[in-house]
Amino acid sequence: MNFISTRDPKIDQKVSFSQAILNPSANGGGLFSPEKLPSFDDSFFDTTLSYKDLALKILNLFEIDIKQSVLKEALNLYDNFDDKNSPISVVKIKDDLFVNELYHGPTRAFKDMALQPFGYILSHLAKKIDKKFLILAATSGDTGPATLDTFANKKNIEVVCLYPDGGTSDVQRLQMTTIKAQNLKVLGVVGDFDDTQNALKALLSSRSFKDALAKKDISLSAANSVNFGRIIFQIVYHVYSYIELLKQNEIKKDEEIYIAVPSGNFGNALGAYYAKKMGLKIKKILISTNENSVLSEFINSGIYDIKNRKLIKTSSPAMDILKSSNIERVLFDKFGALRVIELFNSLEKNGFFKLNQDELKLIQKDFSATSSNDISCKSYIKKFANDGYILDPHTATCIDAYEKLAKERLKTIICSTAEWTKFAPTMLNALNEDNNSYDDLFALKEISKMYNITITPKIMDLFDKEIVQKDIIQKEMIEKEILNFCH
Ligand SMILES: *Cc1c(COP(=O)(O)O)cnc(C)c1O
Repeated sequence: MNFISTRDPKIDQKVSFSQAILNPSANGGGLFSPEKLPSFDDSFFDTTLSYKDLALKILNLFEIDIKQSVLKEALNLYDNFDDKNSPISVVKIKDDLFVNELYHGPTRAFKDMALQPFGYILSHLAKKIDKKFLILAATSGDTGPATLDTFANKKNIEVVCLYPDGGTSDVQRLQMTTIKAQNLKVLGVVGDFDDTQNALKALLSSRSFKDALAKKDISLSAANSVNFGRIIFQIVYHVYSYIELLKQNEIKKDEEIYIAVPSGNFGNALGAYYAKKMGLKIKKILISTNENSVLSEFINSGIYDIKNRKLIKTSSPAMDILKSSNIERVLFDKFGALRVIELFNSLEKNGFFKLNQDELKLIQKDFSATSSNDISCKSYIKKFANDGYILDPHTATCIDAYEKLAKERLKTIICSTAEWTKFAPTMLNALNEDNNSYDDLFALKEISKMYNITITPKIMDLFDKEIVQKDIIQKEMIEKEILNFCH
């Protein structure tokens, strides 16, 4: 199958899957998307399929240009997740409400679901063409660890990861600063996540920076969800969660369900949207945002407006985002490249775009959305913990979506995007109903005692590891540090 740009109306550029993931910047500044979405037949909902079987079937449905043996090796990385038999776990938390735990991988965030196999494939392709690629990541806390973990010691890939010094949880920082590999560099940057991300964006569009890399014979790729190589793996777990409900006898064949997704850059939700279009019986995808509610307002009003908005810092930092990249792929799928160009020109020029009423109706056929503030999330965390289930602050935003948006009596699966252990101080604030500032280790131990839960060594061991990535730099120094590191 070919991949085409969301902003290339004449379709001058058609690329293979491997080209799309190695060089993710597409014509016109667009994003590579499948030329045509394939469809599932009944065999995709077979309850005897293992997670890896299903993943391979879906990858093959896209007819991607990667050898079967390589795909299988990439998928074997799921064997390192908590349960060798399935990387995800679908848990019933009350009557008609289920949680799809997507965080059982090495860094305890759902980013591992896509980045683990993706990293393997990207490195394989880079080796095959004998080229070196640099991955630059700016992280507010989850992308960084997951990107570093997947690329550690991988051939032909170098990674520089920037995080805001003091802007992540202790656990997230330690996940980055204790990881030792020749091909990884972690830089703490003085400032907040916006500063870090803006500095990186400026660099990515700098001619002189690209020239300097070219001199070293290094090309730039990307590992964020702009890369379709991540999205393809995010279709699989939505389908598998449906199969899980079939297996658990909670639904009958072809029964419709809701899927609720805590959204930031909309990669997870896009995976659900593609799955729905390909034939998964999703009544609607319920989108939850935190107080940075650009996305939920867009889905409710058709107006995507960032002109007077400032980023608000919330207890669900991985969702603190204004420009949600992957909404572009949905708009492309529904309205085509010409309309995407119109809309995004308006966003660039005026700080907003607006759908017409017919277009809005089409969006609302697939999506409903609502936003949730920190106060209500914390109260849900406490309420559910008392009933025996621990939700992380991102997952907790979905409870409002479930209560307000699941209008019909259908089963709802909430996507849980992180293990609570990454956000222990916030969790303890929620459980104790206070605003004290706790450090992570204290909060982890407290909660572990209060609820009698064992914390995975993947988290606890971090506190005893040596810090090997020690650099804290001013943002003016980022370019120089990156170029010094690349070899
Ligand atoms: C990245 C992330 C999100 C947002 O996911 P998108 O695919 O970008 O919408 C939500 N929660 C957590 C914990 C994350 O790490």
